[in-house]
Amino acid sequence: MCSVTHVAAGAVIGSLLGSSPAAFFVGMASHIPLDVIPHLDFENLWVDAALTIALLAAVLLLFGLSPVFFGALGSVAPDFENLLWRMGVLPEERKIFPTHSGLIRHGRARPARGFWAGAAMAAVSFAIVAVVAIMGGSRS
Ligand SMILES: [Zn+2]
Repeated sequence: MCSVTHVAAGAVIGSLLGSSPAAFFVGMASHIPLDVIPHLDFENLWVDAALTIALLAAVLLLFGLSPVFFGALGSVAPDFENLLWRMGVLPEERKIFPTHSGLIRHGRARPARGFWAGAAMAAVSFAIVAVVAIMGGSRS
């Protein structure tokens, strides 16, 4: 799944949990089924990275250091190794997250092409976070 989607899913998970550590680890576990589902990924690494950082920052501003934020952070954290790999810093065989290392098969689809496909995925992810905010996700 593209990283911005992991942030949104993790925020939803965190809003359902009362504990930041639990939200972080359940969020991280949620990365596996989301990666297994066949999906579109952003073609442009930097668009994905910029949108992911923007959405994480928005979650932090809206919810503070809460289970919502830590769910989002835990959910997207495994993609940090993908970022390092795509930048050429981390060799393929050094990746450890099961859906990145090949231990669990990663769902494949052609990459999302063009600005609008990426913008649509980002808009849906931002909208999910907005709904969580409107519904008053847990803040602690
Ligand atoms: Zn991933």
